[in-house]
Amino acid sequence: MQSTEIIDINKRPASDGVRPGKVWLVGAGPGDPDLLTMKAVRAIEQADLILYDALVSESIRATFPLKTPALYVGKLKDRHSIPQQRLNELLVEKARQGLNLCRLKGGDAFVFGRGGEEMLELKAANIEVELVPGITAAAGCTSYAGIPLTHRGVSQGCTLVTAHAEKALDINWRSLASLDHTLVFYMGLSKAAMISEELVAAGLRASTPAAFIENGCCPQQRTVRGELGELAELARREAVQSPALIVVGRVVDLADQLSWFSGRASQDVAGNQQIQKLSA
Ligand code: SAH
Repeated sequence: MQSTEIIDINKRPASDGVRPGKVWLVGAGPGDPDLLTMKAVRAIEQADLILYDALVSESIRATFPLKTPALYVGKLKDRHSIPQQRLNELLVEKARQGLNLCRLKGGDAFVFGRGGEEMLELKAANIEVELVPGITAAAGCTSYAGIPLTHRGVSQGCTLVTAHAEKALDINWRSLASLDHTLVFYMGLSKAAMISEELVAAGLRASTPAAFIENGCCPQQRTVRGELGELAELARREAVQSPALIVVGRVVDLADQLSWFSGRASQDVAGNQQIQKLSA
């Protein structure tokens, strides 16, 4: 396994006259290494230094070349390994030392990934950046759970929402409820009660199908299904773990027929009933 403990990333001092390296800002997708794009794989292979986030799975980390130092710069809830501003500076510093960097993020860098902020900082410092899109959790996890984001006659659209904000959460619940289409909440597990209360108060039926997708696209993926009105109770009863995505909308019921990925057991609201798994 890649060692990330003691890494001499300061081996090249910053100096004038050194041609700055470039930064690949890479989305690693939701966890399955087979979902890395070819561009992502090339960036991982060509980088002098890899800086990766908490959501970059162990099996993706196992693809890092042994010769390449890799630095964990992830943020877990309430446990920031490195503040975002310091991380932005670090990227500039290391690129200015002439290192080519692979900045690897879970999912897609531009979807709730602060990729835009890092790119702004790099551009302001005149560092060359190449953005490599990744499969965002909403796309990857729902596909692996057999839940289409849109489906003719069922849902004509889809909205991605973050349930977490550094300062105040500013969501127009009425607008969301009135869309009558698929809603996907990132970072929503600890906010499940609020999400369900707000959406029901804004007019969505408590019986609207809803699901947690836990550890999507990983061997231990689990889908826990139920109704919007009981999201918090469902999370508690089934001990849903992070990372988890919340999907709200009638498309959730299509998993009855479309479920295909044989991760961990998928469960419906009754608790233990297995959803049909075609590839099991
Ligand atoms: N940039 C990422 C999202 C980062 S926000 C992307 O595009 O996917 C982190 C949130 O994404 C988690 O709290 C969770 O809600 C969701 N998430 C990311 N990967 C996930 C996975 N493999 N399974 C379930 N949810 C995931």
